[in-house]
Amino acid sequence: MAKIPLYKPDLVIIISGPSGSGKSTVIDALCKADDTLRESVSVTTRKPRPNEVDGVDYHFRSKSEFKKHIQQGSFLEWAEYGGNLYGTLKSEIVAAREARKDAILEIEVKGALQIKSQDLSPARSLFIFFIPPSFATLEKRLRRRKTESETERNKRLAIAKSEILEIKHFNYWISNPENAPQHAVQQIQAIITAERSRIDTQLIEVITPLLGVDTSD
Ligand code: 5GP
Repeated sequence: MAKIPLYKPDLVIIISGPSGSGKSTVIDALCKADDTLRESVSVTTRKPRPNEVDGVDYHFRSKSEFKKHIQQGSFLEWAEYGGNLYGTLKSEIVAAREARKDAILEIEVKGALQIKSQDLSPARSLFIFFIPPSFATLEKRLRRRKTESETERNKRLAIAKSEILEIKHFNYWISNPENAPQHAVQQIQAIITAERSRIDTQLIEVITPLLGVDTSD
């Protein structure tokens, strides 16, 4: 006898927002707390920071290797950000499906908008935008983490202003206050739970015969 299907992972969750809005910290905590999620590892031409590991934080590649990926059509999306290239490999989405997990992508806004215009079926995309409590907080966070020179930091702050204008293309927003990543983690978990409970055609096809309902007319 047919059974109501358990949740079938099909989400590609895109998390975007200004550099310094706290996306990485929240996503790390989220993926640690929930093993039904798999974070995509991006390719970048940026140099690794002292604490970053190749294959874990990013696939760190040369510009020519990155361009080869572009020519081979390996990217779901890619974009230039602050003078470096960043891209999501299509194989990362396949790997999440094979692991029966939902994929999480932490990417900047131009890349997110490229995915918005694509049909990912049988997967479906979900767009979440992080906003910092204030511009001053953003500046303070970027300054404190000491990962960029002053010129690079100013570039990131200028990009942040244009990114915030694109929030209208996203489905959900997250306010990420200082020192409270757990708040954002819980909010994203609630969004994911709601999305997983959406009624889709596959569920209807299984449920109607189970209930003995005739849908022929
Ligand atoms: P960072 O240099 O601070 O690691 O990342 C700079 C920006 O690039 C961040 O906004 C980050 O979310 C974004 N980013 C990371 N991976 C990707 C990617 O695969 N594609 C795009 N478009 N942006 C990415």
